[in-house]
Amino acid sequence: MKTRTPLVMANWKQHGSEAALTDWLTSVSAIDLPEICRVLCVPLPYLAKLRQQRAELQSQVQAGAQLVSAFRGGAYTGEVSAAMLSEFQVAYSLIGHSERRQWFDETASARRGQLSALWQAGITPVLCVGETALEHQQGQTCEVLMRQLAEVLDGQATAGPLVLAYEPVFAIGSGKPLSAQSAQQMHQQLRLMLKRWYSAADCQRIRILYGGSVNNQNAGEYLRQDDIDGVLVGSGSLQAGAFNALCHAV
Ligand code: PEP
Repeated sequence: MKTRTPLVMANWKQHGSEAALTDWLTSVSAIDLPEICRVLCVPLPYLAKLRQQRAELQSQVQAGAQLVSAFRGGAYTGEVSAAMLSEFQVAYSLIGHSERRQWFDETASARRGQLSALWQAGITPVLCVGETALEHQQGQTCEVLMRQLAEVLDGQATAGPLVLAYEPVFAIGSGKPLSAQSAQQMHQQLRLMLKRWYSAADCQRIRILYGGSVNNQNAGEYLRQDDIDGVLVGSGSLQAGAFNALCHAV
């Protein structure tokens, strides 16, 4: 039996508006689901509104960020530090989402810095890993995942709480999710890989989310797998009604 609290993360990417946030949060917060943890990762300008609305609605939905600076502060135009995020009660932040790696050339060294910056600010990092379609076809998935973990965790793994998100790149935004059974196999592998850095007990505690074309039709099936502890959801999270249905399915 799983003892890890299911985590459902909505990633709005570069979508939304203040008005959409108000409507979404009002609708989602009206549903009492204490048995799961729900997180909304909004674009940075909406964090202030999210903090205000969470307080007004006494919402169970936690605040998440989609990116964070590796630097603590200083002359880094455009950057937002982990300490700044924590002022807005951000509890979780994504690191290494494939869209950041693909479009913004985020490096492994940046991801390492982001991880320790988040820990220092008391924010839980959600480290995204996943292989491309070509790597998948060439049977390199395990090798790629191990490398992506090692380049961030080596030397600093046990310093703070961690969530992993397994997101095969070809499943993101494609409408072609990995089957729940295949995802389970990879999650099992990832939990084994974590033994390089963590005790057996810690490996059992770390939540591993699946992401890639999850919606309210397929979410339940992922959560029924032994090693899948939640989902990271992009387009399926934008409409409050669909997101609520997805959370009920979990
Ligand atoms: C994501 O944003 O991480 C994601 C998985 O997107 P989508 O659900 O749209 O595939």
